[in-house]
Amino acid sequence: MKILKTVSEVREFVKDKKTNGKTIGLVPTMGYLHEGHASLIEKSASQNDITIVSIFVNPTQFGPTEDLDKYPRDLEHDTKVAEKAGADAIFHPTPSEMYPNGYSTYINVENLTAGLCGKSRPTHFRGVTTVVGKLFNITQADRAYFGQKDAQQLAVIKRMVYDLNFNIEIVPCPIVREESGLAKSSRNVYLSDEEKREALVLSRSLKEAERLFNDGERNADILKKRITDIIEGSPIANIDYVEIVDFETIQPISEIKGEALVALAVKFGNTRLIDNTILRG
Ligand code: AMP
Repeated sequence: MKILKTVSEVREFVKDKKTNGKTIGLVPTMGYLHEGHASLIEKSASQNDITIVSIFVNPTQFGPTEDLDKYPRDLEHDTKVAEKAGADAIFHPTPSEMYPNGYSTYINVENLTAGLCGKSRPTHFRGVTTVVGKLFNITQADRAYFGQKDAQQLAVIKRMVYDLNFNIEIVPCPIVREESGLAKSSRNVYLSDEEKREALVLSRSLKEAERLFNDGERNADILKKRITDIIEGSPIANIDYVEIVDFETIQPISEIKGEALVALAVKFGNTRLIDNTILRG
């Protein structure tokens, strides 16, 4: 497996492959890879001739008081996970390779980025869409793989691809969870044992919402109330939001008809966790 550090190395790596009609799958990540990332890489490897995993802790998607500096990094471990899952190359650029002196261009998806995580992280999605747009151009990928774990991000990327006519297929991938139900996340390493235990209220509350929905409940306020009650059962949970929105537009809905995204963000100590489920009406 190749480790590519510069944009020109990636261009060189993909050039003859594109000429020979090979398909390229891209898995954008911030590294510290776990089974969630591995599932995306495996899917890409099964659908494309070549799979490139980008590992880049993207500074433009972190707010000034967020965890950019302490975000976990372990390239050696990531290399093993990526290779085992079927990757052909890792793209691991430096921040200055992606954002050289004088960098001035950003992609901003409006409306979908205003609510949910966009409220408490107002510059986050602008950073995500900018780096992902750059990665699409750099790798010339035919398909890119995104986890439903970051459901708002997935909707925003789909909108960007449609609006800006990127010639790429976005492949959504299901959330991978620990046996306990906790959604896998690189940020789970920040959690103490107690926080990790308490954080199980998230998946439990979403399961309960799914159960109520399957029993016929379609009222968003009732579902949100039940979720909130379960989360507040934990003395250390600090809710950022519990929302039910249309999965395509990310606008709040009061009654579930089409594809609804039930999304939540909750802090345990200093660690902010997100989780979600999709209900199909
Ligand atoms: P990150 O490294 O956290 O930026 O995530 C990179 C990609 O992996 C994103 O598309 C995430 O949605 C996806 N991902 C992260 N955690 C999971 C998970 N538990 N299950 C499925 N996909 C995930």
